[in-house]
Amino acid sequence: MEPLSRDGFNQNLKIRVRRVIEDYELLKEGEKIAIALSGGKDSVLTLHLLNEFKEEFKLHLVAIAIDEGISGYREKGLKIAREITDKLGIELVEKSFDVEINRKLDQINHLYKSSCVPCGVFRRYILNKTAYQLKADKLATGHNLDDEIQSFLMSFAKADFRRFPKFGPKLQQIHPKLIPRIKPLWNIPEKDVGTWAVLNDIPVHFGDCPYAQHSLRSKIKNYLNKMEEDHPGTKISILKSFKESFKSKENVVKLVECDICGEPSSLNVCKACQMLEEIKYS
Ligand code: SF4
Ligand SMILES: [Zn+2]
Repeated sequence: MEPLSRDGFNQNLKIRVRRVIEDYELLKEGEKIAIALSGGKDSVLTLHLLNEFKEEFKLHLVAIAIDEGISGYREKGLKIAREITDKLGIELVEKSFDVEINRKLDQINHLYKSSCVPCGVFRRYILNKTAYQLKADKLATGHNLDDEIQSFLMSFAKADFRRFPKFGPKLQQIHPKLIPRIKPLWNIPEKDVGTWAVLNDIPVHFGDCPYAQHSLRSKIKNYLNKMEEDHPGTKISILKSFKESFKSKENVVKLVECDICGEPSSLNVCKACQMLEEIKYS
C-alpha cells in the first residue's frame, strides 16, 4: 500500500469540508464565527480549516475555550488552545464553570448518573451566552461524523425526539439570542481527524476525559466502532439514512427566554437554571 501523502490527504479533507459548507450554506461572506475550542483534535481541525477559509469568506474568527473544572484533564487542552490561537493569530476568549456557575464539574459530578449531563448543559449554556456577547453570527463546533451518529443513536435509544431537530450540519436561528450552530466536520470520520493531526504533526490533546468511560456515548462509540470493523461503511450508511430528513427538516422547537437568566430555552426555566437550583446546596 502506498504511503499516505500529506498534501493529498489535506486537499481531500478540505474538499469534503467545502462540500458541506457549500451544500448547507454554513458560511456567508463577512461573518463573525465563534469556534468552540477544547484543544482536542476535532476543535483544533475546525479552527485550522476555518482559518483556511477565512480570506475567501472574509471571516472574522474568535475562539472560545471552556474550563469545565476537570482536574488533570482540561488543563492540557487549554494549554493547546492558547498555543494554537496564538500561532494562528486568533483571539481566544476563556470561560470557566468555576466563574460562570460558581462550581467546577469535579464538585458536582457525583450528583448525576453521568457527569456528561451537567457538563454538556453548562458548556452549551456558556458557549451560547459568550458567542452572543461577542456578537458572533455563528458558533462552530468540532462535531465529526462519529459524534453526530452517536448523538443521533443516543437520542434514538432514549426516544428523545425533541432533540431530533438538533441534528445536521447547521442549526437554524430559532431565537434571536440563540447563535446558530455549524458543524464543518459533519461528514468527516473521527479517524480522518486523527490522521490529519498525526500527518501534519499538530499538537492536540489526545487524552480521554476521566468521566467519559461511564457515559452512554462511550458505549455507543465502542459498539459503532465494532460494527464498522465488522461491516465497513456502517457509519456513513447510518448518516445517509438520516440525511434527507436533516435536509428537509422543519425546526419545530419554539424557544422562549428563560424566566431566570433570559437565555433562550424551550422551557420557561432553562435546563442550566434548573441544574443550578439542584446544585445550590452541594
Ligand atoms: S466526556 Fe463528558 S464529562 Fe468529559 S468533557 Fe466530555 S461531556 Fe464533559
Ligand atoms: Zn436560565
